[in-house]
This record gives sequence, structure tokens and C-alpha cells, in this order.
Amino acid sequence: MTPTASTPRDGQVVCAGCGTPTHHKRGRWPWCERCGCYLVRDAVRGDWVSFAEREYRRRDIENARLIAFTAGQADTAIRAVRDRLPAGWTATVHQPIAQAPYTIAVTPPAGADITARLCPPCGDGGWRVRVHDRGAKVDFPLYTAGGARAATFTTAVEALDAAVRAVRVAVRAASTRR
Ligand SMILES: [Zn+2]
Repeated sequence: MTPTASTPRDGQVVCAGCGTPTHHKRGRWPWCERCGCYLVRDAVRGDWVSFAEREYRRRDIENARLIAFTAGQADTAIRAVRDRLPAGWTATVHQPIAQAPYTIAVTPPAGADITARLCPPCGDGGWRVRVHDRGAKVDFPLYTAGGARAATFTTAVEALDAAVRAVRVAVRAASTRR
């Protein structure tokens, strides 16, 4: 963040984007001449930012919360998942990309380039499963029987059972492609 250009008086609105104090108002909100934007108070940090910046920060906080939550869920579930894995399979807590929720990656014994990911609940139902078949270059979620919605599972172990079935089907399909 840019340091403030001058020491503001108490209650003075200082744009957090450029550090300029402002006395301007346009309608209800203070206006930063330099940035050309309205300023709103960020209740979390207590500074004045554009609407866009406040929205960006809100999403950032939400995303960080989601990442921490899924990391906790995956860490809690990994032992039960490993206990139930078929012989030769592996499971690891995994963050597919930075700033994304954590998952449990489940891989069959060597030979198949297929991974299933168990995705912890994100406040909307239960665990979900995605299958990534690198050979066929497809990545798809498991759906409910009717195919209308992504299937959700109450526990990670239930998600694992569905993932193992789906990966086995994909492995068989891959072997017929060769
Ligand atoms: Zn500004």
C-alpha cells in the first residue's frame, strides 16, 4: 500500500489507493480526484478504498477462509481415506493450484495416468469427486444418477468409494484405447 502523502487529521478521508487526503464528495461518498473513484470505508481494515478494491478484498478474505476450511477438512479426513484405500493406491492432501481449495488426490497403482480428487464440502452439500484422466485429456465431476447435478457425498470415505469405482472404469477405458 502506498504510504500516506501527509498526516491526515482525525476523521479525514485518505484514499488508500494513492494516499491522498480528500475533501471532495460526490453525492453520498467521498471522491478521490487523483484516482477518479468514489471512496468507501473498509470496515475490516478501517481505511478508505474504491468500491472495486473493497469487493476485491472481500473476495480475498472469503477465498482465504475457504482455503483454510478445505485444508482442515482434508487433513481431518485423510487418515480414514488412507485406511480404506485399495492395495497399491495412494492418497495425499493436495492444493491443485495456489489460491485454490485443498483436495485429497487419490491415485491408482502405477500404470494409469488418472487421478481422482475428493473435494471437501464448501458450505454447499457434501464432498464432491472429480476425475482427471491425463491420457484422454478430460477432467470431469461425478454426477448424480440422473446426471443433472454433481454428486455429493456425506463423508470423504463415501466419496472415495465412488472415486475408486470411477477411476477403475476410466482405467479400463484407457487400456482399450492403447
Ligand atoms: Zn486515490
